[in-house]
Amino acid sequence: MDHFHYSGGVLHAEDVPLPVIADQVGTPVYVYSRATLTRHARVFRDALSILPAARIAFAVKSNPNLAVLKVLAAEGYGADVVSVGELERALAAGMDPEAIVFSGVGKTAAEMTRALQAGCGQFNLESEEEGLELAEIARSLGKTASCALRVNPDVDAGTHGKISTGKAENKFGVPYDRAAAIYARLAQTEGLAMRGLALHIGSQLSKLDPLEAAFTKVGGLMKDIRAAGHAVTHMDLGGGVGVPYKAGDVFPQPEDYAAMVARVTADWDVTLMFEPGRVITGNTGVLVTRVVRVKEGVGNPWVVVDAAMNDLARPALYDAWHDFAAVEPSGETMTANIVGPICESSDTFAMAREIDAVQRGDLAVFRTAGAYGATMANTYNSRPLVPEVMVDGAKWAVVADRIDPATILAAERVPDFLA
Ligand SMILES: *Cc1c(COP(=O)(O)O)cnc(C)c1O
Repeated sequence: MDHFHYSGGVLHAEDVPLPVIADQVGTPVYVYSRATLTRHARVFRDALSILPAARIAFAVKSNPNLAVLKVLAAEGYGADVVSVGELERALAAGMDPEAIVFSGVGKTAAEMTRALQAGCGQFNLESEEEGLELAEIARSLGKTASCALRVNPDVDAGTHGKISTGKAENKFGVPYDRAAAIYARLAQTEGLAMRGLALHIGSQLSKLDPLEAAFTKVGGLMKDIRAAGHAVTHMDLGGGVGVPYKAGDVFPQPEDYAAMVARVTADWDVTLMFEPGRVITGNTGVLVTRVVRVKEGVGNPWVVVDAAMNDLARPALYDAWHDFAAVEPSGETMTANIVGPICESSDTFAMAREIDAVQRGDLAVFRTAGAYGATMANTYNSRPLVPEVMVDGAKWAVVADRIDPATILAAERVPDFLA
């Protein structure tokens, strides 16, 4: 459910007609609905309230906008960060450092140092080597790093290969068979306080079974580690719950997910941690675009829009689907290919899709663009960096400026040897 709806034939974000934003800010532009964001945050949190002890760390990479993080901080969310840049954002949004989890396979010494100094609540270690390096840094700072060991459970998440992270051939975590021995060694390393295991098997999961299989497997490992005499007080179950991108698709609901977790973890006696991203932010945003022109094709016409793969990379990266809708639909439909202006054939949003009929100058949206949208934007083809807007009832504000090519050019230098 979201708060993007038609009123008087015009698509609105809450109480704001999208043409008002498009006219004042220009296109393309991401528009987020605060009410939708708050609603998703609460639905997920309330679903998990059936668990004895649950903590939620929002996966910042899915939407790192400061205004988005502020809303989630106010809802009691912590943050799952994968770089010092994301860490600084979470802190800037007022998140409690203790509620910040530092994930990622390539944390540098500088990043570990900053995170330790900031009081980061948990480091999810991706290897023994990383743990030993973190321990050394922690000792040099006179600190102890709270850690979980990320395990690769070798479970197929059944999602797109490029967002699958829990198979043995993926780079993430330590191999399941070696995890207990690594945990035991790290638990004896001065500077570290090992408190649990972490896993995250992939993103945009459409079924709960792979998650259940992975949780069950890692639960067994937890028991082995305890039997060997080590404490396990926290278990971080990651993120990955998918969202429907196509109208009519059915996905597991947060209550189904929570019920499955409750069943699998009934006798674990730990604090459970969650790292949802997409399920919180996916539906909270649309990408508003304007049709540049409709070009005749050999087969279907090409609808050329002013948004491109640099603004919304998911279709080019993962063959992802985003529903496309006219902001002021006429009621007519057409079958078309939807593409952006970039000089790559991968700059394609849809092929042979039945869509609202559109023509030059019309506004349209790509739906469900709140997660892995603006966060992946870049300036390829020297296009501006796409702006972001947040709507709250009848109010709205630009929450990230459009960064124009002149600003980017100003950061470039012609060296003396070319003068
Ligand atoms: C990306 C990521 C998440 C969030 O994934 P979603 O599919 O957006 O829920 C959580 N944890 C880790 C470690 C991640 O890399």
